Amino acid sequence: MSVSNSINHQFVQATEQVIGGLRLVQISYPLDYNFLPDKVPELARYLFLNRNCNSENFTEWWVYQPFWGKFTLQYANDPIFAWLQTQEEQVRHQFGYKGFLTASAFVKNGELICWGIQDVSKHILTVPKDPHWWVQLQTLFTLTADQVEAIKTELAKHLPGSGLDVREVLKRFLSIPSGTAYELNPGSHEDNHSEALALYQFFGVTNEAEFDQALVDPRNQDKLNLLQGSTCYLHGHWWSCADCGRKMAKVGVKSIVFNQQWVLNYIHTQQPISAGIQI
Ligand SMILES: [Zn+2]
Repeated sequence: MSVSNSINHQFVQATEQVIGGLRLVQISYPLDYNFLPDKVPELARYLFLNRNCNSENFTEWWVYQPFWGKFTLQYANDPIFAWLQTQEEQVRHQFGYKGFLTASAFVKNGELICWGIQDVSKHILTVPKDPHWWVQLQTLFTLTADQVEAIKTELAKHLPGSGLDVREVLKRFLSIPSGTAYELNPGSHEDNHSEALALYQFFGVTNEAEFDQALVDPRNQDKLNLLQGSTCYLHGHWWSCADCGRKMAKVGVKSIVFNQQWVLNYIHTQQPISAGIQI
């Protein structure tokens, strides 16, 4: 199946699975596609978890993936997810964090190659004091000075104690599509996504420029051989972003397996699976 929008971007159905009475459909779109759902209304039905239709047997949920379908995608239960979830819960507990937190493990032939979890200390968990941050917000959303003041008041009321980062709380007042405005919260930046972090740590680098250099260093050939054809087990989200997809493609990752239990829980509760768990 494929659909296209008015500017002729092709969106291809990458995979489809029926799990627990739900039909989960993954849609991929091109890497160069600038994801602005409000500007592409005909795609609204293909975005995250929109209930598409009910039939006798199925509720359909559509999940889009922001890359061009080069990976094999799957939802599954696997023992490694229980382990990743334990790591995630410990970090949540440490920071009192309730937002999305991902943990990834790269595996080949049953062997764990490397793993990583988002660094929560990079999240902005209190009302920003830096004037540059506010200018950035005003510019991003074309806000008037009065609107900025109103948001300041709302953030002061809702952010402390919410257990969420500033970008998550802003979503209550501003339309921030998934996968955008990461610059408002460094913890959400692509370099802090668990897929990227796991790979960066494996190669001993901290950003994509260093990562690219490491990949052409002959001393890293063994590491590259390990990752070639590996599988990324992704706990804590229903998608992997274009930036992570690009980095995983560079090292030859073959497939991405999403935590089936996590995704089904999210569909039913709209909450990350372990957000409310107290240790
Ligand atoms: Zn990512």
